Amino acid sequence: MLKRSVAATVALTTLAAVGLAVPSSAAPPGTAGAPGVGDTIWPQLGNGGYDVVDQRLDLRFAKGLAKYTATTTLTARATQNLSSFDLDLLGPTVTGVRVDGIPAAWKSTPQGELVITPTKSVRKHLRFVVRVDVRNDVSEVSENSVLPPGLVRYEGFVQALNQPSGARKILAVSDHPAQKAPATFTITAPSELNSIANGKLIGTTKSGGMTTRVFRERPKIAPELMQIGVGPFSVLHRKGPHGLPLRYAVPTAQLGAIEPQLKSFDESVRYLEKLLGRFPGSEAGSYITPLGGELETQGLTMMTASAMTKEGFERNGTAGVVLHEVAHEWFGNSVSPRRWSDLWLNEGHAVFYERLFAEGKYGADLVDGMRSDYENRGNEILAQGPIAAPDPSKWTGHLTDIRPYGDAQYSGGSLALFALRQEVGVPTFEAIERAWVHRYANSTAGTEDYIRLASAVAHRALGPLLRSWLYGKTLPAMPGYPDWKVGPKS
Ligand SMILES: [Zn+2]
Repeated sequence: MLKRSVAATVALTTLAAVGLAVPSSAAPPGTAGAPGVGDTIWPQLGNGGYDVVDQRLDLRFAKGLAKYTATTTLTARATQNLSSFDLDLLGPTVTGVRVDGIPAAWKSTPQGELVITPTKSVRKHLRFVVRVDVRNDVSEVSENSVLPPGLVRYEGFVQALNQPSGARKILAVSDHPAQKAPATFTITAPSELNSIANGKLIGTTKSGGMTTRVFRERPKIAPELMQIGVGPFSVLHRKGPHGLPLRYAVPTAQLGAIEPQLKSFDESVRYLEKLLGRFPGSEAGSYITPLGGELETQGLTMMTASAMTKEGFERNGTAGVVLHEVAHEWFGNSVSPRRWSDLWLNEGHAVFYERLFAEGKYGADLVDGMRSDYENRGNEILAQGPIAAPDPSKWTGHLTDIRPYGDAQYSGGSLALFALRQEVGVPTFEAIERAWVHRYANSTAGTEDYIRLASAVAHRALGPLLRSWLYGKTLPAMPGYPDWKVGPKS
């Protein structure tokens, strides 16, 4: 379906009348932007032909929170002459598309592409503004549901579960970390509830029983890391190291039970800053809900309320989970994966630092943990394809929504980092890690960047070692522990 509204013709006529329209002979020829950024795991995520410069995302929730309307306003810069270009959108109903204020033709595909054809081509290097209006329902989920990616509602709380491809199910985005950009979120919700999103609260207005809050996230943020919360929660503000703002959205009914455990975020930031340098984001903290689902949404980690009460915190080992999620602020949020096959750089690092933290806090021996992963998870790691080149055909069923999150990226990535640490020694390994999060802060980077930087910092060629771990079909011998053997298949 290719829609072109009557309004488009009117707007064009108006422009021509005042002489602003470019004569057709001067228009660049233009070709269609690619439907993806070239990701082998998720070919349809992100889009070609432009870079995203800024994202404005407005969501308006109806009373009862069962429905919303949303407007995406992306400022982008064309990297080619564009006759048409795509955004990612899968599910919501489109109610309007404009490019530079002029209604544009569009069609949506079952693969989640919103193909937009402006009335005239967009010239290479020029900025343009695309606006997409949608409406949609918020899925209500039960405790035992298989969680759909995107916005969900549970016990009166709205939350976003976007990783890795749920944001396109909420509103139009260019849904790949390689196209991350600063973002402004405008959330309108019934005034009796609170609302929150990534970034600093910069404005609040009230009108007709509804409250609108505006949040600005200045560091670049990938759609997979966006959080949108509405519900009966209270927001607590604290100060972390060097005045870092800490912000916690906590269910109001559980405020007293959860508040003492919030300091684990402050402790995690301090622990990691000693190893990695300054916290990379503009703020840290958490959105805690009855459903939760531990997720490193940027500057606002999603946590489950039952795991944050005193009893749940101890029972679930939540201190380690918090450390893992806060580590992602460096690995994944600030330094984003260039392609989803680079996911080990997020999860391998988060697991590695979680284990290092557990050694200091609980005396859990790091070497024992690594040996256990090597011997007991080795087959699962190998079954999911090489650590840095996972095979998408190996993910089936509902797990296709969360591919390629598996043992290869978590335990396998952590083992590869441990192997590097064994090979180069702790001081050099720590220097590599600090250089990595500094060099690629607020940016994207991939596996080959890591290999190159590690070799430069260590003053030796680490490609053969790292590639044998990251691209090999067997687990290499662990440096220093040649007796480790992958156990029998279970
Ligand atoms: Zn993780």
